[in-house]
Amino acid sequence: MARPEKSAPRKMQPAPHSLFPIGHEGGAQRLLLEAATKETIEVEVGLRICASCGKRWFLPKCSCGGHTVSRNGPTRQRIPLAEVLRTALDRTGESKPADIKAVQGMISRTKTPEPIEKGVLRAKHDVYVFKDGTTRFDMTNLPLTHFTPQEVGISVETARRLGYMRDRGGGPLEREDQTVELRPQDIVVARSCGEYLVRVAGFIDDLLERLYGLGRFYEAKAPEDLLGHLVVTLAPHTSGGVLARIVGFTDANACFAHPYLIAARRRNCDGDEDSVILLLDCLVNFSRAFLPDKRGGLMDAPLVLTTRIDPNEIDKEAHNLDVMPAYPTSLYEAAERFAHPREIEPQIDTVSKRIGSVLQYEGFAYTDETSDVALGPLASAYGEGSMAEKIDKQLELALRIRAVDPNDVVARIVVHHFLPDLIGNLKAFSSQQVRCTKCGEKYRRIPLRGKCLACGGNLTLTVHESSVKKYLEISKRISQQFEVSNYLRQRIDLIEDAITSLFTNDKTQDLKLDDFF
Ligand SMILES: [Zn+2]
Ligand SMILES: [Zn+2]
Repeated sequence: MARPEKSAPRKMQPAPHSLFPIGHEGGAQRLLLEAATKETIEVEVGLRICASCGKRWFLPKCSCGGHTVSRNGPTRQRIPLAEVLRTALDRTGESKPADIKAVQGMISRTKTPEPIEKGVLRAKHDVYVFKDGTTRFDMTNLPLTHFTPQEVGISVETARRLGYMRDRGGGPLEREDQTVELRPQDIVVARSCGEYLVRVAGFIDDLLERLYGLGRFYEAKAPEDLLGHLVVTLAPHTSGGVLARIVGFTDANACFAHPYLIAARRRNCDGDEDSVILLLDCLVNFSRAFLPDKRGGLMDAPLVLTTRIDPNEIDKEAHNLDVMPAYPTSLYEAAERFAHPREIEPQIDTVSKRIGSVLQYEGFAYTDETSDVALGPLASAYGEGSMAEKIDKQLELALRIRAVDPNDVVARIVVHHFLPDLIGNLKAFSSQQVRCTKCGEKYRRIPLRGKCLACGGNLTLTVHESSVKKYLEISKRISQQFEVSNYLRQRIDLIEDAITSLFTNDKTQDLKLDDFF
C-alpha cells in the first residue's frame, strides 16, 4: 500500500488567516471580529517600546507610526483590539471584512504578533497562514527531465520567453510538441497550486500597496500570469529552501521537478511531498519571531535559501540517474547472468560521470517516449473506498500473483499497520486530553468542576472509541481467513480483550465495600 498523491494548501488545525492572538475571546472559531466586539482584550504578548514616542506597545509599528523595540519577555497586556482593527480596516480599505480567523496565543519566545492588516487581507483572498508567517501549497514530488510545451500547457512563444529556445536535439523550438530539456530549477506545478498562488499573489499585491505603500508586483489574474515567477520550495522537517521557477502547469496532483531540485531539498526522489511558497511572500511575511522557542521549532521553516544548485553538493543518490537514449545489449546479457551491477556500470552513462563538466546540466536522454507525462490516472485509487475494500483488493491480487505469499502479506499488514494503530490508539484513548466544545480550550485532565475553566462550556473527548476500534474487526477477519501464526492471532485476541475491558461497563452498581469482605 502506497501513500496517495497530495496537492493542497498547507493548513494548520484549526487554520488561521492571522498570527494575531485573541485568547478565548473569538469563540471556538477564533473569529477576530467576534473578539473585537470588546473594546479591549487581555492577551499575552511581547512588550515593545516605541523609539519615537516612548509608548508601551505590542506591535512592531507604533500607533504614532514609529518603530518599536522589543523589551523583556511577553506579559499579559490589555490591548485595544477594536481600535487596532478599526485602523487596519481603514488602512486596507476593507470596511466589511470576511470572517478573519486568528490564533488563541503566540508560540514564540517574544510573542510578537503580525500586523492585523495581514489577517484582514488574507481572509479577503481566502488564503491561510502557516506558523512562520508564510502561505504554502503542498504537492507530491515527481521527477522530470524533459517536457513539451503542450504537456505543461504553455505556448511556443511562452516557452521561448522562458528561455527554452531549442529542442532536445538542438533545433529551434517552433512547435508545441517538440521536446525540450527541463532546466534544473524549473518546476511544473499542479493547476490547483497555480490557482491558489494567484490568490496569494493578490494578497501580496494588496499588502504591498495598502500596508507598505509600494507598487503592486504580481498583478496575476490567472495561473498563466505566474509563469516565470520565482518560488521557494521546501521539504518538511528541513529548514533549507531551494529557489525554483514556475514554467508550466499540470492536471496531475503533483509538482514535476528536476531530480537535482528534489535531491537539493534533501529528498530521495520517491514521491514525498514538498511545499511551494511565492518568493515575495517568503521575503515579506516570514519571520523567526513567530517560530516556537523549543527543540524542533525551527524545522519546516525557510531559514536559509539555496539560490543555485550545484550538482556536486546534492545527495549522491541523484548522481545514479542514467541518462542514455538506449541501454546496451550487454546490460540485458549481464542481467541474465545475475551479474553484479558494478560490472556493467562503466558502460552506462550516469550523472556521476558528468559532474564538474558542462554536461552535468544538459544533454540528458531517456529511453522511452510518452505523449504526455500526466497521462496516467489523475487520482490514485488509494483515496477511494474503505480500508476493508482496499485490503480485499490487495489480497485478491496477492492470491493471483504466483510470486506472492498471501499469508505473509496478511501477517505484514497486521503486524506493521493494524497492530501499531490499535495499540497506539488504545494508549492515546486512556491518556487523552479533553476539549471544551465552546471555546476549544484543551485540558490534560478533566477539571474537578467538570466544565471548562475558561468559559464554563461542556467538555468532550478528543480520542473516540470508534477510532480505537477502527481496525480491530478487519484484523480479526483477515487473520482468520488466511494462515497466520498462532502467536499473531493471540496478540490480536489480547488487544481485543484490552479494548473490551476498556469500553464495557463492569457490573458494579449494587456492590458495596462490604461485599468484598
Ligand atoms: Zn509611538
Ligand atoms: Zn471553554
